[in-house]
Amino acid sequence: MSAKIRLYVEHPLGAGQSLPLDRDQAHYLFGVMRLSAASQVLLFNGTDGEWLADVTEAKKRAGVLTCVEQTKPLQMPPDLWLLFAPIKKARTDFIVEKAAEMGAAKILPVQTEFTNSERIRQDRLQSHAVEAAEQCGGTYVPEVGDLQKLGRLLDHWPEDRQLMFCDEAEVGNALELAAGAHGNAPWAILIGPEGGFSEVERKRLHSLPYSHVVSLGPRILRADTAAVAAMTLWQQALGDW
Ligand code: SAH
Repeated sequence: MSAKIRLYVEHPLGAGQSLPLDRDQAHYLFGVMRLSAASQVLLFNGTDGEWLADVTEAKKRAGVLTCVEQTKPLQMPPDLWLLFAPIKKARTDFIVEKAAEMGAAKILPVQTEFTNSERIRQDRLQSHAVEAAEQCGGTYVPEVGDLQKLGRLLDHWPEDRQLMFCDEAEVGNALELAAGAHGNAPWAILIGPEGGFSEVERKRLHSLPYSHVVSLGPRILRADTAAVAAMTLWQQALGDW
């Protein structure tokens, strides 16, 4: 049997629960993927786990799915936010996709002093996170925030949330991620833009009581590489891997 299609839906899921498909979903399942009545798909909505569902009605522009049984419980990622300064479109897409695969709870684009891009398409980035969750077997979709100023985010920072500050100026210094002390705390990772952090930002970030300054090795990584490397380190030390 070929692998079942996994689909994210915004609808409650439960035994016997029917849900209508919108035009795009019907087109994808019946037009593109050639499913028909009696086919089965896997559904998740970010809160009710994963459900096996029958196609009970298949029309060109509409259709109905009916849940049969739960195939996976909801599995929440660790309480980890990824803060990153948006870069070029394709690389920003990559960061969001990888963050969703690697187990971020929230993805927050931040504007720093040297951030190249002033604007993001939040809806597009959110749909990349959905696609990544569909593909990787996740039952949770991280929320992608709107672009916000890093300074303002830090002004309202929840003080119990630890911050893994990836500072390119620490290049070559040993990795210092205090696993023991903050193992159960909520965390965030911060990755800067192509231009790196300004001295003012660096000074502030170093002085925050919840900040943990981290080096990602002896070479300067591109921001997209840095995001993946940092999430790997964090997951290995403190996460659910
Ligand atoms: N233009 C900057 C590099 C920015 S790299 C310079 O030449 O110094 C983009 C981001 O990736 C950085 O802001 C940092 O958050 C992260 N990063 C890249 N390499 C890193 C390293 N070796 N250690 C820590 N952070 C790194």
